[in-house]
Order: sequence, then structure tokens, then C-alpha cells
Amino acid sequence: MSTALNAARRTRELAELAEAREPVDVLVVGGGVTGAGVALDAAARGLSVVLAEKHDLAFGTSRWSSKLVHGGLRYLASGAVGIARESAVERDILIRRTAPHLVRALPQIVPLLPGTGFAGAALVRVGFLAGDALRISAGTPGSVLPRSRRLGAAEVLRYAPTVAAAGLRGGLAFWDGQLTDDARLVVALARTAAGLGAKVLTQCEAVEVSGEGALLRDRVGGEGVRVRARIVINAAGVWAGEVVPGITLRPSRGTHLVFPQSAFGGLNAGLTVPVPGETNRFVFALPAPEGRVYVGLTDEAAPGPIPDVPAPSAAEVDFLLGTINSALRVPLSPADLLGTFAGLRPLLDDGTGRTADVSRKHAVLTDPSGVVTVVGGKLTTYRRMAEDALDAALARTPLPAAPCRTRRLPLVGAAAPAALSAVPAPLHLVRRYGTEAPAVLAAGPATPVAPGLDTTLAELRFAATHEGALSTADLLDRRTRIGLAGTARTAAEQAAQEALSA
Ligand SMILES: Cc1cc2nc3c(=O)[nH]c(=O)nc-3n(C[C@H](O)[C@H](O)[C@H](O)COP(=O)(O)OP(=O)(O)OC[C@H]3O[C@@H](n4cnc5c(N)ncnc54)[C@H](O)[C@@H]3O)c2cc1C
Repeated sequence: MSTALNAARRTRELAELAEAREPVDVLVVGGGVTGAGVALDAAARGLSVVLAEKHDLAFGTSRWSSKLVHGGLRYLASGAVGIARESAVERDILIRRTAPHLVRALPQIVPLLPGTGFAGAALVRVGFLAGDALRISAGTPGSVLPRSRRLGAAEVLRYAPTVAAAGLRGGLAFWDGQLTDDARLVVALARTAAGLGAKVLTQCEAVEVSGEGALLRDRVGGEGVRVRARIVINAAGVWAGEVVPGITLRPSRGTHLVFPQSAFGGLNAGLTVPVPGETNRFVFALPAPEGRVYVGLTDEAAPGPIPDVPAPSAAEVDFLLGTINSALRVPLSPADLLGTFAGLRPLLDDGTGRTADVSRKHAVLTDPSGVVTVVGGKLTTYRRMAEDALDAALARTPLPAAPCRTRRLPLVGAAAPAALSAVPAPLHLVRRYGTEAPAVLAAGPATPVAPGLDTTLAELRFAATHEGALSTADLLDRRTRIGLAGTARTAAEQAAQEALSA
């Protein structure tokens, strides 16, 4: 079956669902990385699948992450060896097998500045060595993710030209995985699932959810379709408690700032700066597509009603600016900002500790009606979360299903590094589309959608015909990330409208 998602397929599949006499095997609620991962796993086991997403693919937390596929170093520091190892294993699967086109090795450097004590530097070094051990234990070779090492001052400045040079003693470097973009991973998962027969229905809110199915409210056509299902999986992230009662989440907000690359003089590594007075907490600057740099990350309790789109607070912006500036020769100011973004971590309430300490381990919970909720965890471990959720559901409701096969199932566009480097298309397109890059080039004019942007009209058209984009917001805020900078978003609006009506 085709992996192409578009408005015509959505309409047809909704109509088929309304006519269906048999229940579907698996109904997945939520089209973030977790729900898309569950849909893919279930379809790959040979089950019939419907994924219902209230808004668009990656509408929720999955588009607000730091876009890192990380090996769990941070969890190691807090003694959570199991979670750290799980992250390292999943990173290996993504970078080498399932999505090598979307994940690349990124050096992360800690500059040794006059304010960095020798004890602090030694602690970072030990942490990096432990990270190397994790990488080796997960089977990732040094040719894919090089081992950590010490850098000279000149090398630090080559990676991060605006670091304060006075008194710089060099730096420490560690290699981790970086996604081209988090929302693109979600779209690739959903399309791969669609290629195996899953019905991926965006703009469909699941209400009246029980272990027997749900009512899907079509937010485009205004109709309601009742779906009966043998298995129902709730993957609604921070909204999981609104889908089924009894799930209590304790969301934590993480904020990023968006700068132009020029503000960092051409950053080509992750620049990692310790937060003064805290151990194991850092602010980092990451090079990003469209000539941008993301600076993150905060970790703030976010109680109360859950907004569709979370907003950063002024205090978070000040904190990030202040911390990153402590490592820079020329301080950045709010005037340098292109934009900001914030997301809510869907953490389960364990009733203890401050938000930053709540476990990042995922949980699979079954409610009395039989709905299986999968929540917590992180982007990097979506595959394992999906596998655990389906294993739990199938243990309760046995169906004729093959064992999980997502460890070795390449996502749409994936190929081995040699094949990817032979794709006849510019590198930035191969990193977005993998082997599909030539098809994207053929989809329309290679004209940039607005001055100063590298995204083309062809990419927007491909998003409408193959990636399920139904609106200009889908195009600008999720299939591309133009919308992370307000001015660029306004400039590209007309091109997005043209792409939808082409
Ligand atoms: C700031 C920040 C940075 C992060 N950085 C990283 C990182 O670098 N690496 C990493 O591995 N992890 C990272 N994470 C964690 C990771 O982003 C999340 O764990 C993950 O994206 C959660 O995905 P999800 O699919 O569970 O939830 P979501 O992405 O929120 O998906 C839930 C979906 O359910 C839909 N929905 C809700 N209600 C309904 C309904 N009734 N019917 C249908 N659909 C519904 C929503 O619209 C939404 O699209 C970060 C998290 C944050 C907040």
C-alpha cells in the first residue's frame, strides 16, 4: 500500500470506517511520536489499525523537543542505569537501522572556561567516559558515534566561534544523535504505518473512549464516526488523563529560544554550558535547519489546565539567556531572538520530589474498561514504548499477531549511509527526506518559499500530497519548522496557501 497521506485518502478512509462491519484490531488515540510508533508496531505485526489524532501529526509535545536522540547520559548521572541503557539501545536502532537519514552524529562540547573548576571538569569527563561505555554496550561503533575526547582551545572555537576565548582551557566533547526534526520523525512513522495499511486520521478527536472503541469527531467534515476496536491504546501524551479517567500527570514545561546562526558565528556542534550552582544541569545551544540555533532547556512545573500550545515565561527566557551568555564573548540579547517555543513533558505523577526529578521512565497502565495507556518516556524511546504497550494489550486480548518487528523496520526514506550519500539531491534534502529527496525535487519548483529560507515550494507541495498536511499551519508549523520564527512564518504564508491549492 502507498505511504502517501493526503486529504483524499483521509476522506476515503473515514468513509470506509463509517461503513465497516468488523471491529478494527487496534485503535490508537494520539498522533505524537508514541501514537505513531504504536500504529507502526501494530501494523507491522499484521493487525488492522486506526490512528486518530485530534489536530495534526506531531501537534503536541513531539514537535517541541530538543530534537536529540540521546544515549541517556543524564539518567546515568542520577543512577538510572536501566533507562540510560534503554536510551542507548534505541539510539543505536534509530541511527543505524530505522532512520539513518533523519539522525546524525552531533558533537556536544563543554568549554573549559575560567569559571569551570577542575573538579567540575573531571566530573564531566567521567560522565562522558560512562557515556562511551553505554554506547559500546549498546553496540554502536565509534565510526557512527565517535568516542568522547578532550579538545584544544582552537578546536573549541572552530566548533563554537563565539565562545569566550579569554582563559579558555580547551573543552570536552561527546557525540550524541540529533534529529533533523522531531515532527519529521513522527510523519515518517505515520507514513510507514500507512504503507502497511494503517488508517492515519488527523483532525479526528477521540471521545467516549473505552476498551471497546471510541467516537471519532471529524473536525473537518463535522461528522462523527463510531469505531469499534479489539484493542484501544491511549497515547495522548499530556492529554492522556482527559482521554481516560484515573491517569494523573504532572507536566513539566521545557522552553527553547530560537536564534539565527549569525548570532553564534556559525555553530557546528552542541555548545553545552553548566548551570551555575547545579550539578548535572546544562543549557545547550544546538545548530538547527534553516540557519538557526535552538537554545534550551528549562524544566518548570506546569500545573493547571493543559493548553494546546504552551507558552514560555519571561523568567525562562531570562534564565536561558543568562546561562548561555556566561560562556559567550559577545552576550546575546532578546533583540537577537527569532522566536521561542515550549513543550510539556508528559510525566506521570509519582507524588514525590520536584518536577525535574520525576522519573523519565515510561509507564503502561490498563484501566478497568481495558484501555491501555502508554505515557512518559521520551522521543528516543518511542519504539520501546510502543512495543511494551502492544505486548501488554495483546497479553490481555490475544489476537493472531506476529512478534514485534520494528527494531529492523526502516522508516520511509531510510537507507544505509552509502545509499544515502548516493541520492542525487542536496544534502539538506537527503537529511529531511532520505531516498525520497528526488521525488520531492520533482514535486514542484525549487523556489524558496520566502527570502532567506531554504525550504522550497516543491517541499510544501510534497507535504500536501504525501505527508498528510491539510492546512497552512500543518505546512509551516509541522512538515517544515518555518513557523518557529514569526517573521519567516508570515513571509511564507502565501506560498503555503499556493501549495495547498495546487
Ligand atoms: C521541551 C522538551 C524537550 C524534549 N527533548 C527531548 C529530546 O531531545 N529527546 C527525547 O528523546 N525526548 C525529548 N523530550 C520528550 C519527548 O518530546 C516526549 O516524551 C514525547 O514527544 C511525547 O510524545 P507523545 O506522543 O507521548 O505525546 P504528544 O506528542 O503530546 O502526542 C499526543 C497527541 O495526542 C493528541 N490528542 C490528545 N487528545 C486527543 C484525543 N482526544 N483524540 C485524538 N488525539 C488526541 C494530541 O493532539 C497530540 O498530538 C522533550 C520534551 C520536552 C517537553
